[in-house]
Amino acid sequence: MERSGTGTHGAALGGSGGVEERYPYLELLQPKMEERLDRKVPPAGRFCGHCYGRLRPDDESCPYCGAVLAEAGTVSEIPQEVLQIYLTKRRIEARWVHGGAMFGLAIASLLFLLLVIWGPGLLGHPGVAFAVLIGGGYLLAQLFGPLIAGQIGYQRAVRRREELWEEFLQRRAGARTAPPGDSASP
Ligand SMILES: [Zn+2]
Repeated sequence: MERSGTGTHGAALGGSGGVEERYPYLELLQPKMEERLDRKVPPAGRFCGHCYGRLRPDDESCPYCGAVLAEAGTVSEIPQEVLQIYLTKRRIEARWVHGGAMFGLAIASLLFLLLVIWGPGLLGHPGVAFAVLIGGGYLLAQLFGPLIAGQIGYQRAVRRREELWEEFLQRRAGARTAPPGDSASP
């Protein structure tokens, strides 16, 4: 998946984190599904029967997964199960960013204490230590949050999303090929 990366971190533009995706449309759909999760768009509409991307009235193939709609069909709402997959992706990533930021703040607090207790001369001045706490806390929270943990979280979240989607596809295929009362056929 070679998309011209702009160097901005994965969460914003996506796809530049070096994660090989088997279903590239999942990343395309992520912001759309988040809009739906945040209720910024109406729940009803015309959606691809394969990937549940929102379609324009005259689309004949899906702009996300490329499915031919005459074969894949369309649905009027995104299944909750599918929305959950995208929610999980967002939550995993957010948890990592938050955890990383907390770690950065903890390091700044430790530096603050070290300076106050052992800092020689001007370094031991509470004002300097306080500046380290505030400025350093901000920088370290940014560094360990979005920049470091955010990258790890993004990759993990993408992998998890892919697993969940694969499981969903299998369940859906099973439900479609096994009509009720016909389980014993060879
Ligand atoms: Zn589609």
